[in-house]
Amino acid sequence: MKTPSAGDTSGFASLGLAAPLVAAVSALGYEEPTPIQREAIPVLLAGHDMLGQAATGTGKTAAFALPLLNKLSEDTKTNRGKARALVLVPTRELAMQVAEALHKYAKGSNLNVVPVYGGAPMDHQIRALRRGAEVVVGTPGRVLDHLRRQTLNLAAVEMLVLDEADEMLDMGFSEDIDLIVAETPGTRQTALFAATFAPRILSIAGKHLKTPKKVQIAQEKRAPGKLPQVRQVAYIVGRGQKTGALSRILDFESPKSAIIFCRTRLEVDELTDTLNAHGYGAQALHGGMMQKQRDRVMQLFRSEKADILVATDVAARGLDIDHVSHVINYDLPTAPEVYVHRIGRTGRIGREGVAITLCAPREQRFLQYAERLTKQRVEIGKLPTEADLRKRRLEAAKDAIRERITAGGLDDTRELVESLAQEFEMIDIAAAAVAMANDSADKTVVADIPVADERQPRSYDGPSRDDRGERGYQRESRPSREPRESRDEGPMMVLRISVGKDESVRPADLVGAIAGEAKIPSGVIGAIKVHDDYSLVEIPAELAERVVTALKRTQIRGHRVTVQSKPAR
Ligand code: AMP
Repeated sequence: MKTPSAGDTSGFASLGLAAPLVAAVSALGYEEPTPIQREAIPVLLAGHDMLGQAATGTGKTAAFALPLLNKLSEDTKTNRGKARALVLVPTRELAMQVAEALHKYAKGSNLNVVPVYGGAPMDHQIRALRRGAEVVVGTPGRVLDHLRRQTLNLAAVEMLVLDEADEMLDMGFSEDIDLIVAETPGTRQTALFAATFAPRILSIAGKHLKTPKKVQIAQEKRAPGKLPQVRQVAYIVGRGQKTGALSRILDFESPKSAIIFCRTRLEVDELTDTLNAHGYGAQALHGGMMQKQRDRVMQLFRSEKADILVATDVAARGLDIDHVSHVINYDLPTAPEVYVHRIGRTGRIGREGVAITLCAPREQRFLQYAERLTKQRVEIGKLPTEADLRKRRLEAAKDAIRERITAGGLDDTRELVESLAQEFEMIDIAAAAVAMANDSADKTVVADIPVADERQPRSYDGPSRDDRGERGYQRESRPSREPRESRDEGPMMVLRISVGKDESVRPADLVGAIAGEAKIPSGVIGAIKVHDDYSLVEIPAELAERVVTALKRTQIRGHRVTVQSKPAR
């Protein structure tokens, strides 16, 4: 089976995207287009209007963002600085996310992306628009505000995207959308994305799209006999708690051999580094590695010398390994069929297998798709607590003692025990020995992670109330400056530390410095992102001050650092 070579993003190039955009997605570690991208990109590049059915997490942002940037890049001189593309989204949070994604894909293109959303100061946005913005990403209310104040003009718009149109309708933006669309030229190209093709979506599409092509990702049908027979468990954890939750799960499950799936090469490398920094033996496998490296990693995994393989879907495709006890979806797959494919790597040849999924509250709809496709229940798990881990360790100690007694050769220790038996009860001597062995293991136990453990009400046709909370699905006029705090996790802070890849900093250095200097368990450290000249680390808010103070006293990779903290989004 063909596996891609280093830097191979032919999947994106073959869709017809210009070389700089292919390079941009390659730099982000994407290995191949997701199903919605494969279908939607050629349609949009051909200039058609498009009606797309895709939920969050399927890669839909890139599905419209890449063709949009491709179109604008063809001529960057005409209408320079004017709004040439408008993306309407339902929420402030999504506006920020989409603008960030567009900004990343547009790197080096001279195209400016400006988000405009409610709850943020108007004058700041006006200045940004005045400086020139070819791509505007906004919530309907705020876009309309700018139109009324004449701080935004849509007469040069070549492409309009209505993202999460069903959400916008649910939030009562229908009229606002009509007013905004009326300000754009009739010659524009329009794309509309929604989670379903409900009649109201078709009706808004009928109003604003011209003979659109429909893009719907057909779900693979599988014969029940071929479905993977594995226990499926999902843990509902917020973004900031993923690393801690994963450590906890690995400690509890102590998998004989696990494949952990991430979406991109960069995420694979980062998570592998983080796991190794936390003391797990993990190996990375992705399409950006040389064949020789990949063979070496596979050899280690096959011969059970490495128990954890962190991989992208592309790299793991075609791997035939019998002994995988656990498949862990650290990131959700981009389509339910990919999920089925991933979990099929465990439970082979009658062996017992477990498929574990880390899922953010807003991503829970995915679990329904997974249940439908696998025709099995996905159990919502409760993260093991510190007490659970200790209990599990004692059970393991019991087995080990039993085995050790059977193995014999205990004459020396018997003598020692006999002499102690003059002073103490035999049962106390044995209990003390077990406790001593266990104490050293207990040192690695991390603080309890507060996570959601209840099955949320889920619906196929729209996000639940909890989805809205996590995503910031409130009317855009409500400002929010509080740190993120939801039912499933405590508030987190993001620390910006003034060293990064330029100083050869790796996640392990950051974990080491933070855990070592501030004397906190490494498991409570959240997401880590190492950029060129700085790094971002998520920390529970209550520990932030302690960490900032501790880092001021220390050096990372021989460099003194400055640290700034702000609430995590
Ligand atoms: P979206 O559905 O647009 O919210 O995207 C969900 C996540 O998937 C984002 O973090 C993207 O960076 C990531 N993503 C999008 N396209 C790809 C791809 N082709 N390969 C890997 N990750 C992707």
